[in-house]
Amino acid sequence: MTQLVLVAGAGPTGLTLALDLARRDIPVRIVDKAAMFFAGSRGDGIQPRTLEVFDDLGVLDAVLAEGMPTPVMRVHLGGEFVTERRMSEPVEPTPAVPYPNLWVLGQSRTEAVLRERLAEFGVRVELGTALTGFTQDHDGVTATLERDGTRETVRAAYLIGADGGKSTVRRTLGIPFEGSTDESLRMLLGDVRADALDHEFGYWFADAEEPMQGIALSPLPGGRQFQFAAPLTGDAEPSLELLQEYVDRYCGRDDVTLTDLTWVTVWRPNIRLARRFRDGRVFLAGDAAHAHPPTGGQGMNTGIQDAYNLGWKLAAALAGDDTLLDSYEAERRTVAADVLGLSSELLDKLVEGEEDAMERGPETQQLNISYRDPSERAPLAVGDRAPDAPVKDETGRPVRLFDLFRGPHATVLSFGARAEAGPHAYAVVRPGQQVAGPHVVDVDGHAHAAYAATEGTRVLVRPDGYLGALS
Ligand SMILES: Cc1cc2nc3c(=O)[nH]c(=O)nc-3n(C[C@H](O)[C@H](O)[C@H](O)COP(=O)(O)OP(=O)(O)OC[C@H]3O[C@@H](n4cnc5c(N)ncnc54)[C@H](O)[C@@H]3O)c2cc1C
Repeated sequence: MTQLVLVAGAGPTGLTLALDLARRDIPVRIVDKAAMFFAGSRGDGIQPRTLEVFDDLGVLDAVLAEGMPTPVMRVHLGGEFVTERRMSEPVEPTPAVPYPNLWVLGQSRTEAVLRERLAEFGVRVELGTALTGFTQDHDGVTATLERDGTRETVRAAYLIGADGGKSTVRRTLGIPFEGSTDESLRMLLGDVRADALDHEFGYWFADAEEPMQGIALSPLPGGRQFQFAAPLTGDAEPSLELLQEYVDRYCGRDDVTLTDLTWVTVWRPNIRLARRFRDGRVFLAGDAAHAHPPTGGQGMNTGIQDAYNLGWKLAAALAGDDTLLDSYEAERRTVAADVLGLSSELLDKLVEGEEDAMERGPETQQLNISYRDPSERAPLAVGDRAPDAPVKDETGRPVRLFDLFRGPHATVLSFGARAEAGPHAYAVVRPGQQVAGPHVVDVDGHAHAAYAATEGTRVLVRPDGYLGALS
């Protein structure tokens, strides 16, 4: 029987899944119907939890090297500078949370980093290759791919629909995409240069009478471009001239000339959730399963987390244990519904012109996502995110728990007691405490505190960094 996993769609979701599978030596093909890689910045906010996933997948250094922290926004009303604002105030890392702040990188660059890492495992995105149909049976999926008018039939063990909001996979399965599309609100978005503006800052330009109705220009790392965003009125086609009209109307000066428009689109609020995320051997992930408003920067991040949740479960199924596969929908659909609620709330605030509409709290960082049983009251329980902590290895070298977790494996920690038998199992001891076998030494009690651990506490950290049930 084939072990191949076919991933339809090479956006951030499909790329993350392909990468997670490829590093497990699972045969994977990833196809995208687009002829060229997407060039826009749209999902340009990488949330703290996604940075942790990127750490595990070996792409964090590249993402940090290419990106930048969230910029200060300079607010101008009626042409006058009024104040400076940030979406959220930067905070210092803690022992449990090493990457606590949003990180900015244009989505096309994030995708390129994921593609480069995937290529290290010998997997390349097959561009210009559309999934056009499929059937499934007890043993696998038979899919049809079309490229340059030529058809290919592929037999795969599993098919993943990471093919975006208009998902062919979801439509072929007839899974309802429930929610709404609001045609009354449209946003004009684009990547453009505005060399008269200092690229160190973001900008908000609006009339003094209507301070919340204006345009935003957010700097993008790796060049001189800004991401432009404004509510669109009228029916004009998106173009450089149209963006310039908005700038001239709101910025109150005549020297801001836009150039180099490399991506432009009109976005309509499409807020939807697929009724099911799984049908037999076929799974939906990312925008194919949930479509978000861009407020709150959740869509791309949620898709990446879907992929990360699904990868190790598919690997287990291909190794003979398919009992975990059902938990994908149970865990991720609940999260997607919550995240949709959050981003819709932020969209409403923006539409209502509420003053804090641009502010972002910790709830947007995705660090608090948990798959725990809602009736569970313990401070740390199965389903919670496994926190980081500084420890020392057996040679006294400072390392972190995340270093032990990094890779496709699960990890077992035994606090104050000998490690379990088997690989990736460690005792976590206090300084001076002796145990035989693999161990790390807690630094200032951070690991014990983070895991609410007493002598003898054992925890299983799943491959995706959440606490699992120990048998
Ligand atoms: C202006 C804007 C700002 C945003 N800001 C943020 C943000 O700050 N943070 C955030 O998290 N999210 C943000 N988002 C949302 C984010 O861009 C999306 O959630 C994200 O792109 C979804 O990734 P995906 O891989 O699931 O789908 P997509 O990126 O849509 O990728 C799907 C891929 O599937 C391919 N495809 C489609 N059909 C087929 C087929 N039949 N066969 C093969 N391939 C197919 C498509 O060509 C495409 O490449 C923003 C969106 C917009 C519009």
